[in-house]
Amino acid sequence: MFEDAPIDSLLGQVRGYDFESLPVVETGFCRVEAIVALDRVMRAAQAEQVAQVAALYDERVHLMGLGQGDPGLSVIGELGMARNIGPTAAGTQLGLALGLKRLPKVFELFKTGVISEATARVVVNETCSLSVDDFPIADAALADKIPGLTTVRARQAAARIVIGIDAEAARVRAQKARADAHVSMHPDADGMATLRVHGPAEQIVATFNALDTWARGLRATGDPRSRGKIMSQTLVERVLGISSADAADVEVQVVMDADTVFNHGDTPADLVGYGPIAPDVAEEIIAKARHRWARRFLTDPVDGTLLARDARRRRYGGPINAYVRARDRRCRQPGCDCTIRDTDHIIDFQLGGETTADNGQGLCKRSHSIKHQPGWTVTSKGKATIWRTPTGHEYRSDPPPVLPRDDNPDHLRQ
Ligand SMILES: [Zn+2]
Repeated sequence: MFEDAPIDSLLGQVRGYDFESLPVVETGFCRVEAIVALDRVMRAAQAEQVAQVAALYDERVHLMGLGQGDPGLSVIGELGMARNIGPTAAGTQLGLALGLKRLPKVFELFKTGVISEATARVVVNETCSLSVDDFPIADAALADKIPGLTTVRARQAAARIVIGIDAEAARVRAQKARADAHVSMHPDADGMATLRVHGPAEQIVATFNALDTWARGLRATGDPRSRGKIMSQTLVERVLGISSADAADVEVQVVMDADTVFNHGDTPADLVGYGPIAPDVAEEIIAKARHRWARRFLTDPVDGTLLARDARRRRYGGPINAYVRARDRRCRQPGCDCTIRDTDHIIDFQLGGETTADNGQGLCKRSHSIKHQPGWTVTSKGKATIWRTPTGHEYRSDPPPVLPRDDNPDHLRQ
């Protein structure tokens, strides 16, 4: 029912449609039609956004000139802050934008809502190793094949097309993919976290099977722990080279407010590098930390940010470094939530910037590079930093309240 409506007016048509006036049996039919039509609207909007990203990139290349910085990095930074997304997501969008420029027919399917962004992305990934001359052939073949396919099937179809055109390019791509291995950490609820390992399938399968076999063996001889718990603890023990996962020799930084520490209050604590945890969980972690480094930080009773410490030196290190990282917790570039890798002088040391907490900010490697791209400036304004991009857009970054006052249960109950 909405198939013939032009995309530009579809949203208005769906919003204005009088679903309630229909008999109940027909309403469901019409709603499904509307849901499908809205998919076209969303895809068209996503494609338009991607086209704008590609155009922005071209302008950055033009403005920066050769050897004057990295236009891709600049665009990733600008996108991340404008859209409030992380650099990985911004980088993925830029990669899609650049890839679709080489596949105009596929791009047209995306713009008209025939294929989803996920499908466009897998097609771009599968074809990335083709030579310039082969792109038009692949583009025509893909435009013919992928409409109506699921994302998984579109990926398979694209892989077959690439192998058919250039088997060597497909081999190079597979080799490149297998060289890309990484490990990442993701915080979960209740003081737990997930370790994710991405690597060649046979190595990951072998690792999993070894843990599984070990755990089943221990269970068979009477170990009362669950199979999952044995696997998790064995992994920790073998990686850290210790005999018990509970004896892990790590530095624990827990931030708690004084009321919670002394009066058993219920303000959530903060495990640095992870996030909020229940005060009881914090006590348990501290209790287990008998042989370990433990740092205690005080929070500002008014706004919940960490109180400053004094230290002056050329480089951030020792307590002041730990302090800045505990205060910022995640990369301070607006929109970026990556792990902090560098403690940066907001005003360069060479330009008179002091090695103080106020002039320091925790950044990930990528944001640190973005900050030094042509046309970018970062200045401080009290506790906040102001990021200014080449377009003149400004984004403010405040240190997060480590123990947000508004999250205090007493505030929430009111
Ligand atoms: Zn960052």
